[in-house]
Amino acid sequence: MKAAYQEATAFAPATVANVACGFDVLGFALESPGDEVTVHVTRKPGVQIIAVESDNGLPTSHLPLHPHKNTAGGAILALLEGIQAKFGVEVHIRKRMPAGSGMGSSAASAAAAVVAVNALLEEPLALEQLVDFGMKGEAIASGSEHADNVAPAIIGGIVLIRGYHPIDLVRIDPPNNLYCTIIRPHCAISTKAARELLPKQIPLQTAITQWGNLAGLIAGLIRGDDGLIARSLHDVIVEPYRAALIPGFYALKEAALNAGALGCSISGSGPSLFALSTSENIARAVGTAMYAVCADMHIDSTVYVSRLAHGGSRVLSVH
Ligand code: ADP
Repeated sequence: MKAAYQEATAFAPATVANVACGFDVLGFALESPGDEVTVHVTRKPGVQIIAVESDNGLPTSHLPLHPHKNTAGGAILALLEGIQAKFGVEVHIRKRMPAGSGMGSSAASAAAAVVAVNALLEEPLALEQLVDFGMKGEAIASGSEHADNVAPAIIGGIVLIRGYHPIDLVRIDPPNNLYCTIIRPHCAISTKAARELLPKQIPLQTAITQWGNLAGLIAGLIRGDDGLIARSLHDVIVEPYRAALIPGFYALKEAALNAGALGCSISGSGPSLFALSTSENIARAVGTAMYAVCADMHIDSTVYVSRLAHGGSRVLSVH
């Protein structure tokens, strides 16, 4: 396949994976922040990452430029191979969120990258078809192909990954009143280490509680039933283990709930926490309350507030 355009830029948002009771099967997109990826057609086949930079002071020098080690590079290589491209691309990545923080940073780069390359071709693939290629990029960061960040980063909304073989995505429009607060304490957690902590087996009663909550959360989101969402946003399987990796986790959660959040848990594998609220004002108050808890512990933190996004990645320019 030949490129129809020379250059394209796409945006992909931060995402919250797991969403308390939906470990590995649920994620949602935010409106901001997000990464931007520009791709430029080259005659030489393959992928060259020219720069990974940030315009908001984030450190990016540790992020890999090697295309097989960068999630954007890996995703593009898979896509170029999948469409039997007769061209290569140079890639510029602008990061707006830190890597390894649980905000789906690696997925955002992979998502924006495949959406930008698809735009060079006049978008032959639907967004949902790009998820497979985005997952190949994500595998670089986490060691396995998973979709709970990259699927919402590409197709937007709340996404349930019903199954992987074959991939079966269920997209739910978020209720319009739902806002997400994310607090990122300035410390990093390796997704791999956070996974190794988890038990290999769980008691049946614990599983029953968790799947009741997950079903309740999905029903609550579809119905826009805030009470049901609040009753369901509990994780009895993963959070009890991972909380230990996050300084002051339970104090942060209590502060969020006291400030009016419907629920609060770990975003992805942490160390960020997310909380859902029914208005922007409450979401901001939740952020202020959690920020104060971090400040009391002498931990720097950054707070993000965003509505849950209907859309995911989008093309910003193509020519
Ligand atoms: P996050 O939830 O922030 O994406 P992960 O642990 O899943 O956290 O991914 C972060 C890892 O992915 C880091 O080791 C980082 O070096 C690697 N990585 C590779 N490419 C990128 C990229 N383009 N953006 C962010 N992280 C990347």
